[in-house]
Amino acid sequence: MAIDESSPSFFSPWPDRLRHSAIILLAAGLALAVLVVFGDLAAVRAAAAFICIGAAALVPWRLHDVAASRDDVRAVNPVEAAAVAAVVAGMPDPAVLLDRAGRVLHLNAAAAQLAPALRKNELAQFALRSPEIITALREAIATSEIRRATYLDHVPVDRWMELTVTPVPVPTLFGGSDKCMLMTFHDQTPLRRVEEMRADFVANASHELRTPLAALSGFIDTLQGPAKDDVKARERFLGIMHNQAKRMARLIDDLLSLSRVELSAHVRPDTLVDLVPIIRQVADGLELLARERQVTIDIDLPDTPVSIAGDREELLRLFENLIENALKYGASGGKVVVSLSQALTGEGAPEVRVMVRDFGPGIAPEHLPRLTERFYRVDVGDSRAQGGTGLGLSLVKHILNRHRGRLLIESVPKQGATFTAAFPPAMPPVVA
Ligand code: ADP
Repeated sequence: MAIDESSPSFFSPWPDRLRHSAIILLAAGLALAVLVVFGDLAAVRAAAAFICIGAAALVPWRLHDVAASRDDVRAVNPVEAAAVAAVVAGMPDPAVLLDRAGRVLHLNAAAAQLAPALRKNELAQFALRSPEIITALREAIATSEIRRATYLDHVPVDRWMELTVTPVPVPTLFGGSDKCMLMTFHDQTPLRRVEEMRADFVANASHELRTPLAALSGFIDTLQGPAKDDVKARERFLGIMHNQAKRMARLIDDLLSLSRVELSAHVRPDTLVDLVPIIRQVADGLELLARERQVTIDIDLPDTPVSIAGDREELLRLFENLIENALKYGASGGKVVVSLSQALTGEGAPEVRVMVRDFGPGIAPEHLPRLTERFYRVDVGDSRAQGGTGLGLSLVKHILNRHRGRLLIESVPKQGATFTAAFPPAMPPVVA
């Protein structure tokens, strides 16, 4: 749309047209004067004719101006109006063009979907109803400056949109100048969510660190004071302090691992690794814990290598978390089965599956979708008693994402839980 008011054209501003009128009047006045001088026209008639020509030259233009100022900007020029509609329609974000009163001139499909109450030729103020937005519209038109407001949408999900009102000067069809407003919405929901998650994460991490720290400083005070010479108490407290310090170290380890995996989330590992010895190494490493918990680990692995594109250290961490969880939370079942198989996904794509199954109390269905959230635990006290940080399954999920794999969790309460890590195979495999 042409908004450059300085460009000389038929639509040029009023002073230009005044000049044109003056030229016409001058020419008419000269012609009439010549006729009067040569006696072809009476002076009175010449004066009357001059007044009529003057009125013809000035009045309709003024009338058109008045009409044009009431008209909307669609009257500017059919080609420009079509271009405006096309630009608004083509904008990726929801966009609405309003006249100076706030009446909708054009809106694109995204805007109609976002705010179905917005309709052409109706006032946006009635459709949006927010005092903040109405103030932004009023101020934008009054000051000719950009104004911003927040548009909140709650259906079907909460969304935060930044609304920008940009006043746009437009020439009207008969040379006047008007203003309309371009209102655009930019979705800030992902940013807000990330911000909220970051704040939650910092709050959770600080809380998790503060708890063992408080215990440590409490025991230090006791050992320096009342229990100074109590050898028995000292031994017991030092044991507890050692466990709390280990818990803090584990938490920091998990936090660092999580941030490392997140940093490289977009880079898929490209080294070929054989899963069989990795799983065996993890199971061997957890043998002591299994014995402590009186659980046997049954390993069902193929004799031939099963390779995927993977990061060995991350895979060790992943299987360690799954098998350790099965030993800790499913100990009452007395057995943990770890197996590796090759199968097809629902879409028929081949995948490598590592299943860790326990026969413990299982997990109630309402917890399953949230288990991979950071710091989410079914039973916080139980997790802490087991030395858990609440970050294990979150780490598992991130490692699997990086490997372009997926985590499947199945559980029947009282019958145990099965955690399956599924990976795309390294090469087109021969599915058994
Ligand atoms: P944590 O450090 O607490 O073990 P995880 O992220 O590894 O954290 O696990 C989250 C929660 O999931 C655990 O606190 C526990 O409540 C539950 N959970 C994980 N594995 C099992 C399992 N095999 N059986 C029952 N509950 C489990």
